[in-house]
Amino acid sequence: MASTFADFHLSAFLTERLTSQGLTTPTPIQQAAIRPAIEGRDVLAQAKTGSGKTLAFLIPLIEKAVRPSPATATDPAHAAGPRRQPTGHPQIPNALILAPTRELALQIETEFRKYAPRALTSLSVYGGIPLVRHYRALQRPPIVIVGTPGRLLDLLRTKHLNLSHVQYLVMDEADQMLDRGFLRDIRQILEFLPKQRQTLLFSATFSPEIQALAETMMRNPVQAKVDMGVSSPVKISHGYYVVPGEEMRVRLVHTLLGGLPAGGRAMVFCEQKYKVRKLAARLGGESASVGAITGNHSQAQRERTLSAFRAGRIRSLVATDVAARGLDIPDVASVIHYELPSTPNSYVHRAGRTGRAEKEGETVLILTAQEEREYLYMVRRLRIETRRLQAPELMPLPAPAAQEPEEEVRRHQPRRPAQYADPSRRRHDVRSWGTQGPPTHQQTPKPRPSR
Ligand code: ADP
Ligand code: MG
Repeated sequence: MASTFADFHLSAFLTERLTSQGLTTPTPIQQAAIRPAIEGRDVLAQAKTGSGKTLAFLIPLIEKAVRPSPATATDPAHAAGPRRQPTGHPQIPNALILAPTRELALQIETEFRKYAPRALTSLSVYGGIPLVRHYRALQRPPIVIVGTPGRLLDLLRTKHLNLSHVQYLVMDEADQMLDRGFLRDIRQILEFLPKQRQTLLFSATFSPEIQALAETMMRNPVQAKVDMGVSSPVKISHGYYVVPGEEMRVRLVHTLLGGLPAGGRAMVFCEQKYKVRKLAARLGGESASVGAITGNHSQAQRERTLSAFRAGRIRSLVATDVAARGLDIPDVASVIHYELPSTPNSYVHRAGRTGRAEKEGETVLILTAQEEREYLYMVRRLRIETRRLQAPELMPLPAPAAQEPEEEVRRHQPRRPAQYADPSRRRHDVRSWGTQGPPTHQQTPKPRPSR
């Protein structure tokens, strides 16, 4: 097993890039997945949030491209990997990476650019920006394409994109990609890909059903699973407050944000878009260093807010689950769940925006007495330890910010049925509680000691 990146005997180029980014030791999932992926095996990879899954699929992709197989190695034109047709047209794109949200697609491509040579071209495509921009960009197809399913399908159907030469397919956040909201799109995208290809699936969470479905799309996959049964890093501390009503929730969030350590950032998750908007406004909005992201914001707004948050220009981000998956933002010290998340997976992924790359982090929930029992059942199933916290003295709310104008209409909506649009728009009406079902609320929960 490789204990340093040098043990993988990667190309000099990649080794140098990893060193210049300060990376020396592969994380456990990188140790488990990189070698089989370079060897061309399909990989089904599960590892907790923030454990370096992105590089676990990007390193093999780059390595295979800069070190072409013996069949193509003799031609210097293949320095970046793709085979060429006799006509000289490159058979590209060569690799496709699917991600559930626009911000994650962009983040993956940005990460790819940090490690890949210039000749290994890439493009990220996602909804919310004019299709013509992608039409234009695809006149010279990239070698690697990263995208969200809806936009990819739009481009495939209009024949602006040809994926018939894809050799390397990655689904990041694969369990979400194969869940109801996306599955139909994914199946359609797969129709445009060659059957002979390498398929790699990554997530922190896989249900047995989704795993079985995933395996039907792969050939004899290597199961790269680390920290079995653990999807949430142990360095995240979990706690919760029980509050009597809505007003107290808002004031408690405001108080918790006020107590952030210097330089620390926080994310606050709500179930519904209107709650995000309302909460961000009640907390003072951008003038109080609070931003908001939902699927209803225009893409330009989403990107502006996220980059302000990444850069530390705003300290708190209120969001729906559109920001729950995959985003890697430095110094998120705290994740606050404004209310009980609708599924255990949602809890794991939201909480996973903190405690990344072995850093410490905390996540707290704000619950009503009715939700407490449901929450404790959830964490028991997730094998997470939690504790009830004593609410601090609540600070008064700032003068309310003007609510954002009613959502900018997005003129470039993909033409798809609403239920397949942005996943944050889907209501989680079915809860994935497994076979036992959720606990009922009929009984009054036993009082627990406050700590
Ligand atoms: P995941 O996809 O598992 O949630 P990411 O791939 O987003 O996690 O990585 C989380 C963070 O860890 C990123 O900031 C990344 O740069 C960092 N990271 C990845 N690999 C390593 C490594 N081998 N050593 C140190 N940090 C790493
Ligand atoms: Mg990830």
